[in-house]
Amino acid sequence: MRFEEQRELMVQEQIISRGITDEKVLDAMRKVERHLFVPEHSRYNAYQDFPIPIGEGQTISQPYIIALMIELLELKSSDKVLEIGTGSGYQTALLAEMADTVCSIERIASLARKARDLLNKLNYENIYIKVSDGTKGWGNTYPSIKEFDAIIISAGAPKIPEKLVEQLANNGRMILPYGNRFSQILTRLTKRGNDIDREEFGGCIFVPLIGKYGWTY
Ligand code: SAH
Repeated sequence: MRFEEQRELMVQEQIISRGITDEKVLDAMRKVERHLFVPEHSRYNAYQDFPIPIGEGQTISQPYIIALMIELLELKSSDKVLEIGTGSGYQTALLAEMADTVCSIERIASLARKARDLLNKLNYENIYIKVSDGTKGWGNTYPSIKEFDAIIISAGAPKIPEKLVEQLANNGRMILPYGNRFSQILTRLTKRGNDIDREEFGGCIFVPLIGKYGWTY
């Protein structure tokens, strides 16, 4: 089966069938060629219902969990998004299809370089990737953005990274897997003035968020 047909099947059988309805999410998943973001020897599995190793002990997440997290961000085309954990860059591309600007932080330089090269080749001009500890936030790097409309953390956090909450705009949404090393709860925080709304969306399993305001090892 051609990759394009596999991609449509993925959207129908894994994403729509499990209740994702945001057309912008579905369109982005139909468009972005997930097989380009996995190692060559795993391409035949790229559209299957599971995460895939991408090297350095990291994984590209299962398609459905990515779709769910992005839907929960409720993105508008004018939104500035911060992603922690670039990994393969697949989710970065989906976000770039839907939002104005995507700033993405990855702590492992070799993964960041690979993702940056591929996203450049695919002609994305609204993605900025930096190698750093994402739990500290975007900082003074170009583009200078002090507050993000949406923040997505793609690794399991043992506590809420306060620095990132600070960089969330009013009415901004943050989605993160929150919990212990081996299982987490998909959690959405929404900033409302001085208050933070908190909602939970079920269990998930992510690689650990390692950094100053995450796991320290
Ligand atoms: N959405 C990505 C998920 C990659 S896995 C994809 O689908 O490909 C999570 C990534 O988070 C890993 O690449 C890991 O190196 C990175 N990571 C873990 N802790 C981090 C931190 N503090 N700052 C930035 N990246 C981090």
